[in-house]
Amino acid sequence: MKKTFNPDMQGYYGEYGGAFVPEMLYSNVAELQKQYLKIIEDSDFQKELKQLLHDYVGRPTPLFYSTNLSKQYGAKIYLKREDLNHTGAHKINNTIGQILLAKRLNKKRIIAETGAGQHGVATATTCALLGLECIVFMGAHDIERQKPNVERMQMLGAKVIPALSGSKTLKDATNEAIREWINNPTDTHYVIGSVVGPHPYPDMVAKFQSIISEEIQSQLLVKEGTTNPDYVIACVGGGSNAMGAFYHFIDNNHTKLIAIEAAGKGTDTDLTAATIALGKQGIIHGSKTYLIQTEDGQIIEPYSISAGLDYPGIGPAHAYLHDTGKIHVDSVTDDEAIQAAFHLTRTDGIIPALESAHALAYLNKMDLKPTDIVVVNVSGRGDKDMLTYSKFFNHEE
Ligand SMILES: *Cc1c(COP(=O)(O)O)cnc(C)c1O
Repeated sequence: MKKTFNPDMQGYYGEYGGAFVPEMLYSNVAELQKQYLKIIEDSDFQKELKQLLHDYVGRPTPLFYSTNLSKQYGAKIYLKREDLNHTGAHKINNTIGQILLAKRLNKKRIIAETGAGQHGVATATTCALLGLECIVFMGAHDIERQKPNVERMQMLGAKVIPALSGSKTLKDATNEAIREWINNPTDTHYVIGSVVGPHPYPDMVAKFQSIISEEIQSQLLVKEGTTNPDYVIACVGGGSNAMGAFYHFIDNNHTKLIAIEAAGKGTDTDLTAATIALGKQGIIHGSKTYLIQTEDGQIIEPYSISAGLDYPGIGPAHAYLHDTGKIHVDSVTDDEAIQAAFHLTRTDGIIPALESAHALAYLNKMDLKPTDIVVVNVSGRGDKDMLTYSKFFNHEE
């Protein structure tokens, strides 16, 4: 695993990040901070991880040159097909890494939080494979909305525990997971699903997802004779697929890195999840970053048509890269994302996840030259979103 982008010893990217955790969790988090690099850089660990990513997840995922989109946009458009991973998204790159690490720390139980259920399914899948007990916390409201994923987790042998407090969504599930970790500190590992949370999670998850940009570089070298595209575009909820797709390009001054947030109904409305556009600095889930909050610091419930993007914060590394001008952050509305999803489906026969459709929609806002090489990270497949898509069949025809 190459390293090009690291936080400092305390987990800070500039002024963002850190580890703001309750005292009861100090020793757990400190253990992880002390051990994670040693473990994941170990050659036996890397060998086991690479083997599973190859034989179980199906990596490397293809880098697909879309003739149809290239013709339409007048540039070379490539799609990084994370939708073809086992379980249908990039999330399994991280769960396999973290659960292999948990085994090396002699943990017997895995806990996780999930919103739409994608991270829960990836965690339950990996626990089934590697033989660990799995408990997933999920907001009671999300359990109703995301029934197929709840049933998948149960079939995989995970216990799904409803979070009944607050708005009964992701942030409440996260609170429950943290409470559970405090009660079982020694035998339990908490698998966080994005580049968020206290140090070392943002860096650890970024390193496990960095395989995406590592592959883009070697695949582009074969197809285009260069490792550096002109643009990489990815959607951002917490920011893990984007960080994975950007990671090996951060130190390169050629590639423009574009992160797309969910504008929801629009950044001029209350129904949005565009954290960088509207957020202010604060602390959420153990790290300092941007978050959408009221004047007196209460977190505002985020909204997006896509359940994977409605997170009120953003990973601290993205906050830092935004402030330093290394990444460009923009947003796409529900309607623009839906249109982009139908467009890709009809032009290329690929039904993307609603999250990924936000990245695809940005192609319409770009001013491209014929020589430009653009890579869009298709973070997941759209099977889970069929209920939402089917509501638009009539409008669209
Ligand atoms: C969870 C999810 C996302 C958002 O999470 P990030 O950490 O921002 O990548 C995006 N796309 C898909 C398909 C997801 O499942």
